[in-house]
Amino acid sequence: MPKTPEQRMRDLQHFGEEGGVVPVVDVAATSTFLNPKDMERRFQGELEGCYLYSRHSNPSVTAFGKKIAAMEGSPAALGVASGMAAVASTLEQILIDGGHIVSSRTVYGGTWALMSNVFPRRGIPVTFVDPRDPEAARRAIRPDTKVLYTESLSNPLLAACDLKSWGKIAADHNLKLVVDNTFAPLMVRPMESGAFASLHSCTKFISGSADLIAGAVCSSQDFVNSLIDVNSGAVMLRGPVMDARIAHELYLRLDHLPIRMRAHSECALHLAQAAESEGHKVFYPGLKSHPDFDLVQKNFDLSWGHGGMLTIDCGDASRANALASRLQETRFGLYAVSLGFSRTLMSVSALSTSSEIPPDERKKMGLSDGLLRLSVGYTGDLKTMTQRFLEACHQVLKS
Ligand code: PLP
Repeated sequence: MPKTPEQRMRDLQHFGEEGGVVPVVDVAATSTFLNPKDMERRFQGELEGCYLYSRHSNPSVTAFGKKIAAMEGSPAALGVASGMAAVASTLEQILIDGGHIVSSRTVYGGTWALMSNVFPRRGIPVTFVDPRDPEAARRAIRPDTKVLYTESLSNPLLAACDLKSWGKIAADHNLKLVVDNTFAPLMVRPMESGAFASLHSCTKFISGSADLIAGAVCSSQDFVNSLIDVNSGAVMLRGPVMDARIAHELYLRLDHLPIRMRAHSECALHLAQAAESEGHKVFYPGLKSHPDFDLVQKNFDLSWGHGGMLTIDCGDASRANALASRLQETRFGLYAVSLGFSRTLMSVSALSTSSEIPPDERKKMGLSDGLLRLSVGYTGDLKTMTQRFLEACHQVLKS
């Protein structure tokens, strides 16, 4: 039996200096070389295995990288400054000599803006396709295509990507499949479907406390090394590195991510079922009515449930705002962007994290202006929370 992500993380042994049960935080910005010759050799790439300067590498960031790689099942990983640093640095590194990207159309607004407004101006064109139609991705491939890009579970539409099919297309055409796995940590392990890299915004579920911004690139050791190459590394040269203190925090929080994911999933499923039974238009990957329910059952590891994200279509933006306001008044949740927090966070995607995407594009991807996205928390009594949710839905959506 292959080890589970939880077992792999547990089997890592990092001790503190005096045998402490957690590693120490190594905050040093730079490291001493006892022999000046060694520093020269390090810069020339002739000496490996020693620390140099923390924009390049740092022991606490390395420890975090090993742990998130164990979770993801990747050979290596690099902690970076944000989820967008993970997305931008990975693509910039792969496309250092240019090339074309085929990307899912339903991606986070920031990623969409990067691919629509920045990359094409730098000579990197992007073709967007429906993530539910892998053959459309195949048809969009050109001679200069280098990357297939998708989100495992999309923001905010919760479209589940058939990564096995996308992985096969990438292999058939010798392309690099890059997957943003922010919405489905543990549940999806893109490397097992042939992904070249799996990315996370660690700001979200991996942090769990809405108190920091961070990201991670999980990939091969060679690719991680290329990101911190002193001559051409996108992370080394542009500098979006992870701070050692944040790396240490996240290292510890990965231990309880599985418990937190189960709690998010349990609460989200309960709310989704309750709202659906009252006739509301709710989307949740654990509901039979979700368009990708069968795919999720087949391809996701459901040991942690179906995740903490759900959406409810309120018809139009003013109703979605009204519902969110009512839910905030009753202390059900907080009207705020982001996700993965212990408390419920709510936002109207078209007015916030997807507002970078023009209305006609949002329409193409099926993103309604009335879509309220909820990142379901696990604090508070579930029965009371469900009652508050249903009462607000009834008041606002049935009026
Ligand atoms: N990827 C996804 C799916 C996201 O939802 C976000 C942010 O919301 C990001 C990437 C960017 O992450 P960060 O805010 O940590 O840069």
